[in-house]
Amino acid sequence: MSRIAFVGLGNMGGPMAANLLKAGHSLRVFDLSAAAVQAAVAAGAVAADSAAAAVADAEVVISMLPASRHVEGLYLGENGLLRAIAPGALVIDCSTIAPASAQKVAQAAAAAGIDMIDAPVSGGTAGAAAGTLTFIVGGEAAALERARPALQAMGKNIFHVGASGAGQVAKLCNNMALGVIMAVTGEALALGVAHGLDAKVLSQMMAVSTSRSWATEVCNPWPGVLDNAPASRGYSGGFGNDLMLKDLGLAAEAAMGVGASIPLGELARNLYAMNSRAGHGGLDFSSVIKLVAKDA
Ligand code: NAD
Repeated sequence: MSRIAFVGLGNMGGPMAANLLKAGHSLRVFDLSAAAVQAAVAAGAVAADSAAAAVADAEVVISMLPASRHVEGLYLGENGLLRAIAPGALVIDCSTIAPASAQKVAQAAAAAGIDMIDAPVSGGTAGAAAGTLTFIVGGEAAALERARPALQAMGKNIFHVGASGAGQVAKLCNNMALGVIMAVTGEALALGVAHGLDAKVLSQMMAVSTSRSWATEVCNPWPGVLDNAPASRGYSGGFGNDLMLKDLGLAAEAAMGVGASIPLGELARNLYAMNSRAGHGGLDFSSVIKLVAKDA
């Protein structure tokens, strides 16, 4: 069992930390939100006064923050954690960030004698709570082996997709496809309901037909179709619209970097930007259906 520091206890980090505790690891935690820290303490973690205090004697440091700027801000610079983490420790960043940002932080970590992998996740808040996340790992194979016991406590599938930053590239590919699928699933349900169909029956049919997807079966965007989906609790507590918007922006940057064409990914990015401007940036990304369905 490892001494683990966990920074970033939000919708994903909170339940991930709880699963590490259940597996018997000891956890020192930090988050800017006192409520998030309290929830982790209730699950058995020890609260630290700062991120630096959390990592002081940690063997493994895990971060789960919103975006590139938060991860770079946490680890780099005068007061960055790379100065507080003991050489020889392992850093696992599970945030979804720009591949170049992941490489930049991993290089600085290596210069400080610290192994670092990018390990963004897929599976949503339900997967984080159930401990069934998919980890998409970029970095050295030996570092992944050191990370494996912690990752196995939080997830079911672990993919090593390449060197530092590769985990982020693969994650962006997944989320670009997800963003498009969610938007078009919302359109399909809105079309059916406008013709008088029952959204639940339509969804049940689609879930066993050729358009079946996570958007239909797990995170259905129509309120009331699935009790546990964010749509059925006012689109709260899932994967924020603005986090999807961030990921589609990162996908667009990644596409420009290699001259790839992503026409649907770009279209989806605009849809989530419109949903954000409509005041839904903090809601689950399935609220994109609101652009086409006034009853959702
Ligand atoms: P969130 O906004 O719910 O949580 C982020 C947490 O980080 C917050 O509690 C915030 O207070 C904390 N934080 C921010 N800056 C900090 C700092 N400097 N020090 C300490 N704490 C800090 O976000 P989330 O939904 O948990 O997502 C986290 C990451 O996981 C994002 O990169 C997101 O794209 C990715 N992700 C989310 C989901 C999902 O379904 N929510 C799924 C897969 C991946």
